[in-house]
Amino acid sequence: MGIFDRRSNVLGRNGQAANGDSPPPENSAPTTPQAPVGDEADRFEPADMMGPVRVRATADESSEQAGEGAAASKRDSGAIVISFANQKGGVAKTTTTLNLAVAFSESGQRVLCIDLDPQGNLTMSQGIDPDKVELSMYDVLVDKVPISQIIQKREIDIAVASIDLAGAEIAMSTQIGRERSLEKALKEVRDDYDFVCIDTPPSLGLLTINALTASNKVIVPVQCEYLSMRGLVQLQNTLEMIKENLNPGVEIEGILPTMLDSRTVHAKEAVEILEENFGELVFKSRIRKTVKFAEAPVRGASVLKYDPQGNAAGYYRELADEVLSRDPANEDLSREPAEEVLTDGAT
Ligand code: ADP
Ligand code: MG
Repeated sequence: MGIFDRRSNVLGRNGQAANGDSPPPENSAPTTPQAPVGDEADRFEPADMMGPVRVRATADESSEQAGEGAAASKRDSGAIVISFANQKGGVAKTTTTLNLAVAFSESGQRVLCIDLDPQGNLTMSQGIDPDKVELSMYDVLVDKVPISQIIQKREIDIAVASIDLAGAEIAMSTQIGRERSLEKALKEVRDDYDFVCIDTPPSLGLLTINALTASNKVIVPVQCEYLSMRGLVQLQNTLEMIKENLNPGVEIEGILPTMLDSRTVHAKEAVEILEENFGELVFKSRIRKTVKFAEAPVRGASVLKYDPQGNAAGYYRELADEVLSRDPANEDLSREPAEEVLTDGAT
């Protein structure tokens, strides 16, 4: 745990991961039978976990059709599924899910977004009222309604949330295979998309576990102002348990510094701390702070639609390029292919 102690004065934390006697993370779902905030933090070494970060869960899915025709890639084995997770609220999970998804779409990718947060912010940010939807992810997860029946077409396709999604964790908790409900539901549509982007709630409960179990990759937005290394360690512990028990292939794709105010020393320092602790895992792209991100959802739009020429749109286009450039199915889009990508035989 040494590296987490190093800058503890700046973090305002003691750098210790959650121990058995620690309270659960904020907003943690109390009903989750396997809420994985355990006492195993001490055996966890971020460096161990982060070593093979660029190992691609989907490497053998690389499409032989890559490079054919337009920018759009048509994968042989279905979409790459990315969860956007951080049990802390207000770190730009929803903002990143939507805007990265729209940026993928602009690049010719076929994209489905899934709103797995009972607050329904992603659903709202596409101009849909979660109080008025008739069928939502609740019905998919609990009553096994085909996901195709709840997808609405907006800037991207979106599988919507409703307020009753809050009851899904309890309703699912007695079901056999409760952690795999989303993974199973996705099979129906996985071949119809290149990317599935899942927005998760601010907890490590059963909804988030379903997201991580269904995913190839996880993107972790981190608000630079209130950097919480302790929260990141908890998230890594959860992911480690998912890998051991449910989904060995899931990997962190990257940690994304968000709401960056580069004029402040504090923000610069926060990014430095992230890079010291997580190295290559921190995306090169930076999402800077601008009011456009708060304005766009009010219009029911992404920033790419709301202000297409603005800087805010540019931040997410850059992130999309960074993610796509690591994807073997998109080598033609890559500006500078990452070294790791070249080792997977997709060339
Ligand atoms: P989460 O889903 O993690 O709770 P949100 O995406 O809802 O976080 O973002 C929280 C708030 O911060 C929202 O009001 C959003 O508009 C705003 N926000 C997100 N990204 C930025 C940014 N780069 N600059 C300024 N405000 C932002
Ligand atoms: Mg959110």
